[in-house]
Amino acid sequence: MSRNNSFDTVRIQGSYNPEEHHYASNVPIYLSAAFTLGSAQRGRDIAEGRIPGFSYSRVGNPTVAVLERRIAALEGGVSAVAVASGMAAISNTILTVAEGGGRIVAQHDIYGASLDEFVTLAPKFGIHFDFVDDINDSRQLTAAIGPDTKAIYVESVTNPITRVTDIEHVASIAHKAGIPLIVDNTLPTLYLFRPIEHGADIVVYSSTKGINGHGNVVSGLIVDAGRFDWSHTRFPQFSEPEFTLYTEELGHAPSFVETYGNEAFHQRLRCKTLRLLGAVLGPQEAYLELLGLETISERISKEVASARSIAQFLDHHEHVRRVNYADLPSNGENSKQARLVKSLFPKGIGAILSFELEGSEDRVNRFIDATQLFHYIPNIGDVRSLIVNPARITHREVPFEFWEKNGLNVNLIRLSIGLEDVDDLIADLERAFELAYRD
Ligand SMILES: *Cc1c(COP(=O)(O)O)cnc(C)c1O
Repeated sequence: MSRNNSFDTVRIQGSYNPEEHHYASNVPIYLSAAFTLGSAQRGRDIAEGRIPGFSYSRVGNPTVAVLERRIAALEGGVSAVAVASGMAAISNTILTVAEGGGRIVAQHDIYGASLDEFVTLAPKFGIHFDFVDDINDSRQLTAAIGPDTKAIYVESVTNPITRVTDIEHVASIAHKAGIPLIVDNTLPTLYLFRPIEHGADIVVYSSTKGINGHGNVVSGLIVDAGRFDWSHTRFPQFSEPEFTLYTEELGHAPSFVETYGNEAFHQRLRCKTLRLLGAVLGPQEAYLELLGLETISERISKEVASARSIAQFLDHHEHVRRVNYADLPSNGENSKQARLVKSLFPKGIGAILSFELEGSEDRVNRFIDATQLFHYIPNIGDVRSLIVNPARITHREVPFEFWEKNGLNVNLIRLSIGLEDVDDLIADLERAFELAYRD
């Protein structure tokens, strides 16, 4: 298929040729742990990378490969790697960029499990995080980068308060310092925002969320822009001899940089970190992801329109202390956040928003219990509308020292807007207000 096809065509037809699969209209699910190698010669050619082919599903699977190539094409990357969850995408990425230890600069206003990993687990693997309060502040960000810093890690739109990151600015600071920018783009999805077009080097997703969109799969993705030069001594893992890349023709074990140049990151991630830690995606999950991806544009655009209406409804409500939704008209046109939304997110920031109720936590609990259409579920990006109290559930790992800075408190409620009728959703919230504030 032509490389010039637009997003809406590629999400349905990209990277799949029915002729190669008995003319099946849907991508077949290859439920096979391993693949016949054919002949000794073919086996060796596949193993040594001379010809494409599959040998073992921990290393590669044809159903998963269609998803990976389609995502890479949509995102504008050279390659995508599908993994078993969003957390696997994040873990494999940081273990690959900071293999052997080092530092990563990040914002603390991020998904609860990501922060928990960065604060409590990664340091035990020699990977230490330096957190900045405002990722868009050049001075703070530059001051946090040191000689052992391996990357900057951000979320494009933060969960749950939807703060927008100035990806172009952060990317230029990263590149001046000789380090890559990693972006968790889960909230907007690649339909609303493609970080590689704005300078990001690596994009990670929990595709459990809006990309799959139906709340029936746990999965993650890593996309490599293929632009970063990994040959610098800051990243010795990419320049050391790699025995699995040895061939008799070469006569020596080359490094990932020598073999793959600027594609060293995704190649090493797949060949070392993912293959050896093993958190791969299965073909049935990949099939469901492909099915979800087929309708991403229609789903997300309707969900964004509904989220905007619901944010405005909440913004004017007497029992709401504040609404966190960067794309809200009352935020003013000239705030830095409003300008970033306008320039980077012309189609909107996504279907997730949060707000603070006034009064005691008892009111908050009554509000949650009173909603009928909003399901009380710790997930986002589903066709069903979801409600949760982040401080008690999805973000309970966030240490108290970060609560105020991250906008977390027990009055905060997060909504993920689905595809139901928006007037029904607003009526459901109205009824919940009535029941929660009746006496
Ligand atoms: C859910 C989420 C993750 C983790 O993804 P899983 O698929 O649950 O492992 C990471 N980042 C963000 C922003 C998320 O919302």
